[in-house]
Amino acid sequence: MSDTVLVYKGESIAAYGFGASHPFGTDRHDVFHAELDKAGFGDKIEYGHPRPALVDELALFHTADYIDKVSRMSAAGKGWLDDGDTPVVPGIYDAASAVVGAVLCAVDEVMHDNHKRAFVPIAGLHHAARSSAAGFCVFNDCGIAVEYLRQKYGVQRVAYIDIDAHHGDGVFYGFEDDPDLIFADIHEDGRFLYPGTGSAEETGTGRARGTKLNIPLAPGADDSDFRRAWQRVEAYLESMQPQFVIMHCGADSLEGDPITHLCWSEEAHAEAAASLCHVADKFCDGRIIGTGGGGYNRRNLARAWTRVVQSFVETQ
Ligand SMILES: [Zn+2]
Repeated sequence: MSDTVLVYKGESIAAYGFGASHPFGTDRHDVFHAELDKAGFGDKIEYGHPRPALVDELALFHTADYIDKVSRMSAAGKGWLDDGDTPVVPGIYDAASAVVGAVLCAVDEVMHDNHKRAFVPIAGLHHAARSSAAGFCVFNDCGIAVEYLRQKYGVQRVAYIDIDAHHGDGVFYGFEDDPDLIFADIHEDGRFLYPGTGSAEETGTGRARGTKLNIPLAPGADDSDFRRAWQRVEAYLESMQPQFVIMHCGADSLEGDPITHLCWSEEAHAEAAASLCHVADKFCDGRIIGTGGGGYNRRNLARAWTRVVQSFVETQ
């Protein structure tokens, strides 16, 4: 196995975005990669180049009707995929499929023991539901990755850990009655921020009741609040013993994001990533992938994601 960290790069994933005036612009990929280059990890990282996802792979999580709708609207090139958060731009189907493809490539590389850790910057589209777009998210690459790990590799107990400021509702509700999806999400309290969900009382439904961890934080919460919450995540993961870790590294939880109100520094992302690598080493043969997620202050996303990659490198 290579001891390099695999980082995905390429025009096809960079193209996922909604135009220059939108917070989720297509410049985010290059801003991150410029910062990563500056960090000088040299031969400790290797670049991966994504392939598009197949329709059958999208259908592991999404309904056929919804996939058709995205395809049709992408060709038409205008309108909205939801009630006004996620606009259609020409080619959005291809860009969204490339994001999913990159994440599935990352899963394959890690499962084939070519790398222990992989990071996909433009990914983590955690608001998309099984049958609808939401909150800038077209296809839910994380949800698809969970189903893909189960179907292709027989890995049932995947841990999804989300530190984006927004609740990962697309993943949570996609698996809320599934006791094998290990879910922990620290986010800004839904009373103050989109999508409004993720209260501490939401622990799963049916057979999965009591198996999931939502930790809402008040607006203005800082690194010390993050660390207190993270201790609960660590104890939870220790008790759940996952087989694979997916980290959602949304950088909109850092101070200065234009659309959220948490006040962490990039230390939170560095510490969370290092901690999850230890969990992965203990329970998952080291297997972890990171997805960039949100983050609309460019400096913040560049630094937070670079610190995640640094933690992946340092814990190899
Ligand atoms: Zn977010």
